Amino acid sequence: MNRVSPATDSASTVTPSSSCRIDHGGSADEYRAAHETLKANREIWPSLSFAGLQHDGAGGLVELRHCPSCQSTLARPIAQSEALFLCESQAELAVRSKLALAEANEASCWAQSPRKIDRP
Ligand SMILES: [Zn+2]
Repeated sequence: MNRVSPATDSASTVTPSSSCRIDHGGSADEYRAAHETLKANREIWPSLSFAGLQHDGAGGLVELRHCPSCQSTLARPIAQSEALFLCESQAELAVRSKLALAEANEASCWAQSPRKIDRP
């Protein structure tokens, strides 16, 4: 039996990938079914670790995410408009992270430098 925890379909619940545990079962079919359950769950899918986008070979796109239990890369079709939004969100996250890195570096340099006080 495949289970995804927590087993809720509440639209208000977003499950962080770190707390999502699945039971893959004992067969390839159960394993596949567990992954299909992850792909079909609208709350859990976006919380899984993002692994990029890929062309599907037929003019479409698939979104790649990692299974929280076995780290397999799972693929699910994504509309181009959603893919663009996802790319822009990821790019914005990278820019904010680089800014935080630069600010932390600057603050570290400031904290370690001797303060000079100009006195007449
Ligand atoms: Zn898995």
